[in-house]
Amino acid sequence: MAFAAAKARADFPVFNRRVKGKPLVYLDSAATSQKPWSVIKALTAYYERQNANIHRGVHTLAEEGERAIEESRAKAARFVNAPKPENMVFVRNTTEAVNLVAHGWARKHLKAGDEVLVTELEHHSNLVPWQLLARDKGVRLRQIPVDDQGRIDLEAARKAVTPKTRLVAFTAMSNALGTLSPVKELVDLAHRSGALALVDGAQWVPHLKTDVQAWGCDFLAFSGHKMLAPAGVGFLYGKAELLESMDPFLGGGGMIQEVWFDRSTWNTVPHRFEAGTPSLGDYAAFGAAVDYLEACGLDALRAHEEALTGKLLGVLGAEAGVTVYGPLDPKLRGGVVSFNIEGVHPHDVGQIFDSEGVAIRVGHHCCQPLMRRLQTGGTARASVYLYNTEEDVEVFARALKKVKGFFKVGVKS
Ligand code: PMP
Repeated sequence: MAFAAAKARADFPVFNRRVKGKPLVYLDSAATSQKPWSVIKALTAYYERQNANIHRGVHTLAEEGERAIEESRAKAARFVNAPKPENMVFVRNTTEAVNLVAHGWARKHLKAGDEVLVTELEHHSNLVPWQLLARDKGVRLRQIPVDDQGRIDLEAARKAVTPKTRLVAFTAMSNALGTLSPVKELVDLAHRSGALALVDGAQWVPHLKTDVQAWGCDFLAFSGHKMLAPAGVGFLYGKAELLESMDPFLGGGGMIQEVWFDRSTWNTVPHRFEAGTPSLGDYAAFGAAVDYLEACGLDALRAHEEALTGKLLGVLGAEAGVTVYGPLDPKLRGGVVSFNIEGVHPHDVGQIFDSEGVAIRVGHHCCQPLMRRLQTGGTARASVYLYNTEEDVEVFARALKKVKGFFKVGVKS
């Protein structure tokens, strides 16, 4: 395998611990990634050496802290190929980024009867904000269906777009199934009908090369915590003219230019959307996560994850009584594999895996409409990242057999 996952693993202190007396096999990076020493050190270094509030500080600590944070912004811009750091708004996470578009752009620019189009794959974070908008503004929320494999049907997408569509908001990669969306095609489809395109990059950005200019998307939302950075930092990328056209979402310190008793003027973009004291250390440490991922190389990372995903699919496919969701070709998906074992509740699957030191996620994965489409209440989900190895897949396979043995799956009584 070209990518040295076993070596990378040594950079992540969590792998020094044991779970239930066994070495940790972490297959839950789609929920949140583990953190390398470099990120943990950048976080503590901020509080050890620079801790000061940013903006308006003229002393050395404040200047150094602000520089570290602005470097993170610049690295985020480079990582997704945004034209400028000013295209990147600091937020806490993907959820906040989507809500910022809903409040700052959609509430200002959309009117009753306009349509927002999402897909059947969406995480609740890219669905509920649009439901709230629909409720408050009379905007119509519509959806692009997926096929039985959880793939977006482009023909159905074409049919779903109408002259009233003002925004197409979709995930680039499904957190529940791992399926990859035809991002460029959907962006073009939105633009051809005069709509904007918002890409939920929560799962894509940490794993696959992202180029917002090649996609041509208007907005991109993503979270730092899924890409080695601390929780508490994420970004909304927006085209400059769109960010300029938006109202602030939160009012307070830092986002204003001038304040009178009864009115205010707004700061420049992106600071207009960054009210209040942020998670300073998390923001500063984000840059170290980008450095780490860039040093790995996203092409090598993708090849590594594709190989591991293929192995996981192979293990699951070889077992009777196991249902795998999504396409079976690892090229069509990221490193996420959802499955169910006949007659066994996903929570029981998760607990038995945990008893073997294997962390997987179970449940509806914040995708209840998709689960209904797949006619299941929930699934077990394994997801891989740069620190996972072939040995991890072997332990996974043993845990799977343990579940089947315990519940006597496939054994006639
Ligand atoms: N969208 C997708 C596709 C996700 O996987 C997630 C996280 N599971 C989110 C949005 C929400 O991310 P966060 O909780 O970091 O806001």
